[in-house]
Parts: sequence; structure tokens; C-alpha cells
Amino acid sequence: MTAEKIALITGANKGIGFATARRLGERGITILAGARDEVRGKQAAAALADEGVTAVPLRIDVTDPDRVSEAAREIERRYGRLDILVNNAGVAGGFTGTPGEATAADLREVYETNVFGVVTVTRAMLPLLRRSEAGRIVNLSSHLGSLTLNTDPESPVAGVNMIAYQSSKTALNAVTVAYAKELRGTPIKVNAALPGVVATDLNHHRGHRTPAEGAAIVVRLALLDEAGPSGQCLSDDGPVPW
Ligand code: NAP
Repeated sequence: MTAEKIALITGANKGIGFATARRLGERGITILAGARDEVRGKQAAAALADEGVTAVPLRIDVTDPDRVSEAAREIERRYGRLDILVNNAGVAGGFTGTPGEATAADLREVYETNVFGVVTVTRAMLPLLRRSEAGRIVNLSSHLGSLTLNTDPESPVAGVNMIAYQSSKTALNAVTVAYAKELRGTPIKVNAALPGVVATDLNHHRGHRTPAEGAAIVVRLALLDEAGPSGQCLSDDGPVPW
């Protein structure tokens, strides 16, 4: 393996993304701190650098295909490859009604980032990941996206019915499986990480876990060795049914 790994984390300026950047950076991995806002990205990279992490800000709005392509060209120019892609950027969306009240636009708002954003970024970064000796893609999913848990009346998830966010994570799970199928037989592993309920801006800090705790499974999947799984959905406690 090439000495220095390169990791891109989207939405690295705060929350679980920032904690992931910190943890991967502590291991000597060069962090490309993706942020849609240039100032927030620079602040995050500076904060990581203060902690001794090699961090470079990278402006990347996952809903802007031109910007994503430009980011990929920038990575190619500077490093020639990418070893780890963490598709972390995500939104909860503004819709708070019942599923029956939701419009296609309510879902589209969330899908633009949580699903289509992942597709745009992955497509742009895949050629660079293919040049890595051990490419890893980690998609930030949620227990709330599991159809198995949603249809189990005993599950804590059964009482939550946020159609836009939850179905976006279900779609993301399907996208994760599709990439894993395509990349079977290559060194690239693709998995979905479930961070648990983490106190961040996304849920108005209603989670009981810290961003560092939530980032642990993301880091584990980003650093999987050759024997590790691909095409799975994992939390700290192990595989979670789709
Ligand atoms: P957060 O603190 O709100 O962070 C979300 C990050 O995504 C921010 O950096 C945000 O940037 C960025 N982002 C949003 N839209 C973007 C776009 N179009 N382009 C680029 N970046 C964008 O939330 P979080 O809880 O850490 O969430 C991180 C991921 O974990 C999400 O995918 C979320 O669905 C998932 N997750 C969270 C929990 C939880 O309990 N918190 C549980 C399961 C899964 P700005 O600062 O510019 O808004």
C-alpha cells in the first residue's frame, strides 16, 4: 500500500463528518475536508491542522455536478488517486407532515443530497478510487432507512414515520448494494454505516451519542482490510438488516 492514504469526506465541516475527519486524520491519512461553503471548509481544515492532521479544504456541494467534477479533477491533479470516500453529507429536509401529505418535491429536496448527491460524487470519484490499491466507500445511512426495522412493530424505528428522510436512506442502501455488486472482484469495498442517534445540527442535538461515537463505525469501514465485508449495512453492533 502506498504510504499515505487520501480520504475525501463530504460534509466534513461539522457533526459526524468532522469527527470522522479527525479520527482518520489522527491515523496519518490525508484528509480532503469537503464542505459546500468555502469558509466553513477552511475553518474545519484549519481546526484539524491545529490538531496535527494533514487536512486540505475542498469545496464540494454534492448537489452541484460541475463543482463535484471540478473537485475530482483537483484531486487527480494533486494526488492522482483517492483511497477513501466517505459520502457523509446529508440533510433531514424541511418536511414535517405525514407521509400522505408529502409531495414529490418534499422527497426530492432530501433525495437531491442524500441520494442523488451520493450518486454524483461516487460517479466522479470512482475512477480515482479504482487507482487505489484498496479503495473504500462508506455511505452514511441510518437505522431509519431499514425496511426490516420499519416493518417490525417491536423496533424503536417503527414509531418514526419521516417519509422523505427515511426513504432517502432506504434508497441510499439500495444504491450502496448496486455499487458493491458492480465492484465485486475489485479491491474496492462499499458499505453503509449506521452511526446511531447522534447529537448534531441535523436532529437539533436530540441524539444520545456524540459525533465521535457515531464516527467510530464510519472509520472502521473506511479502514477495512482485504478480508472485510462489502455490500453490507453495519453499526457498532455488527450487520443490520436492510
Ligand atoms: P450535520 O451536523 O447537520 O452535518 C451535515 C453535513 O452535511 C454538514 O457538513 C453540511 O454542510 C453537509 N451538507 C449538507 N448538504 C450538503 C451539500 N449539498 N453538499 C455538501 N455538504 C452538504 O449532520 P450529521 O448528523 O453529522 O449527519 C451526517 C450524516 O450522518 C448524514 O448523512 C446523516 O443523514 C447521517 N446520519 C446522522 C444521524 C444522526 O443521528 N445525527 C443518524 C444516522 C445517519 P453545511 O454545514 O454547509 O450545512
